[in-house]
Amino acid sequence: MNAQTPRRIAVIGSGPGGCFTAQALRRHWKDAEITIFDRLAAPYGLIRYGVAADHQHTKAVTRQFDRNFLSDDFRFAGNVEVGSDISLAELRSVFDIVVLATGRWRDRALTVPGSHLDGVLVSGDIVNALNTVPRPNLPMPSIGERVVVVGAGNVALDMVRFLTKTASDYVDSDVSPEALASYLSRPAREITVLSRSPIASAKADVAMVRELGKIPGVAFTVANSSSAAEDNSLGLKREAAFADLAAIEPDETRAVVRFVFGATPSRIRGTDHVESVHLSEAPAGETSVIPADTVISAIGFDVNAPGHWHYAEEYDFAPSDGPGRLECGLYRAGWLKRGPVGAIPANRADAHQVAKEIIADVESGRCPVGDDPGGFLALPESLRCQAVSFSDWQHIDAAEVANAEPSRIRTKFKTHAEMLDTVEGLRTNVSAANPQTIVSSRSMVKG
Ligand SMILES: Cc1cc2nc3c(=O)[nH]c(=O)nc-3n(C[C@H](O)[C@H](O)[C@H](O)COP(=O)(O)OP(=O)(O)OC[C@H]3O[C@@H](n4cnc5c(N)ncnc54)[C@H](O)[C@@H]3O)c2cc1C
Repeated sequence: MNAQTPRRIAVIGSGPGGCFTAQALRRHWKDAEITIFDRLAAPYGLIRYGVAADHQHTKAVTRQFDRNFLSDDFRFAGNVEVGSDISLAELRSVFDIVVLATGRWRDRALTVPGSHLDGVLVSGDIVNALNTVPRPNLPMPSIGERVVVVGAGNVALDMVRFLTKTASDYVDSDVSPEALASYLSRPAREITVLSRSPIASAKADVAMVRELGKIPGVAFTVANSSSAAEDNSLGLKREAAFADLAAIEPDETRAVVRFVFGATPSRIRGTDHVESVHLSEAPAGETSVIPADTVISAIGFDVNAPGHWHYAEEYDFAPSDGPGRLECGLYRAGWLKRGPVGAIPANRADAHQVAKEIIADVESGRCPVGDDPGGFLALPESLRCQAVSFSDWQHIDAAEVANAEPSRIRTKFKTHAEMLDTVEGLRTNVSAANPQTIVSSRSMVKG
């Protein structure tokens, strides 16, 4: 190994941004030790906790990440929050290169008058409940029968799928049984989706629009404010997909979904609870007052939301399509770099760019690496014991699979503490067999 080959690389965050970057660095530097830290005991970030339960095929990308963690010198260190369990400076002192991939995801909130009323929800709270995000006391918000969804991007369409699907659509998924049952005990009947933009410039992927058409028992209407220009092939495709939805005539209609494009909500009215949504703009012929008992905002993410880091004062984390370098030896990738936009494949492309940049910085001598700084084994013993390893995670994973409700692939643990208890149980058994081994993962329990 020469001086221009790093020995120890740390990636903070095990979502797609972190995993793809680590994978690309591993491909180039086969001898380097790579440790991926995550504040949670479970790896894979929003793949596990954001992607909708009825999209299990999307979650399958984790299988390729699993293979990395099973190879030598590629380590998962869950249950370690950088910034609170260990400082970034401490971490940097024992790793040649640190890549921050801590993501950022907090819903942008509605700001129209009346947004404070009961019945106004953010899509993130629903996604969190359905995905069993490990926060104690995370109930499924109460959703009524007349729902207005504000936004028409992919997360808004995730909401529409969720609001219109039935229990049988979740067979072989990992949806939270309680959250789903709570909603399906009284599902929505009328759903109005409001988009400020016309169809041509709305954010939804065409495939996501088409997918809605496969849900039986749902009737759709579509109002649009202006048509796509003839050379806007994507806009035209999206318009065609919505026209196909509007042409569906279900045998029996369980729910009606109205898409209104070019509609701007100006006020939510109600005494304590939502009663209606008022529009300041609407396409010709559309009503400007929509009776509703629930409003779900899905209007994108707050770009300034810091996520779970505590070192934000030191660096400029404004979204950037430029270099991932924050300074020599310190880089960023994923949503932390680009802002909260783009699906999983966009993170792959971006991670390859960042990895290339790191490799060029090191190999050109622009950012040289020195003597072996020690890496994971140079961290305090208490922190190493606290870390949930990949084999610990496999134990958690197996327990979730074993606990699966009928026709589910797993039932996720509800809290971080339960996951750590499972690891603790495993370790206690190991140390009973070998009394020299005393380890504890419970020294920090994340909320
Ligand atoms: C509701 C929703 C649905 C989505 N659905 C899809 C979909 O169907 N298909 C698709 O392709 N894309 C989807 N996406 C987009 C996709 O999830 C993102 O592109 C991707 O997850 C971003 O990756 P990331 O690694 O930057 O961030 P994340 O996935 O958020 O990963 C960040 C990781 O960092 C960890 N972390 C944070 N702070 C710290 C810290 N201080 N110390 C240690 N670890 C830390 C977190 O625990 C997390 O595991 C969806 C996104 C959302 C929000």
